[in-house]
Amino acid sequence: MSVADPIARLVKELARLPGIGEKTAQRLAFHILKAGAGYAGELAGAITGVVRDVRLCSSCQTLTDKDPCALCADPRRDARTICVVEGVPDLVAVERTHEYRGRYHVLHGALSPLDGVGPSELKIRELLLRLEQSPVDEVIVATNPDVEGEATALYLTKLLKPLGVKVTRIAQGVPMGGDLEYADQVTLARALSGRREL
Ligand SMILES: [Zn+2]
Repeated sequence: MSVADPIARLVKELARLPGIGEKTAQRLAFHILKAGAGYAGELAGAITGVVRDVRLCSSCQTLTDKDPCALCADPRRDARTICVVEGVPDLVAVERTHEYRGRYHVLHGALSPLDGVGPSELKIRELLLRLEQSPVDEVIVATNPDVEGEATALYLTKLLKPLGVKVTRIAQGVPMGGDLEYADQVTLARALSGRREL
């Protein structure tokens, strides 16, 4: 080994992160070493803290360090409308539009039988439980406009409509195959306001 073992160990761990190659990992490791013990402590603490303190909101399933999360605890938000999204970044994207004042439900994925993702891998049971506990007027399905997102929307519609819930789907405008997370604010706001009933 050409570098000291502790450096090699750090490089190896950093290189496991998405988008970080061997070279970048090395650059980061030397940067951390140079920055000193104070920074290393902060970084290590932040990494440990995120795993220790962040959990799922027991209601909407978003990532939070408080349960219920700030969105669920906010009495100004309309509890009778639920916007269903695939992931937390999608929730953040919808929030960025400042157009939506209801609550959310995060599925943590989309149906994808080929990848072994069935309904039980998603937070669908939790959604049904929520609807049982407090009735809602509308569920807006804001899954991504790709094959998995559409399949998930269809599945949710079949599941929720018999319960007497109005199910709507965000309008086209978010490009097909696109990702909600990367849609610009105006496009996403328009897609939300132009939603149609399923
Ligand atoms: Zn919540």
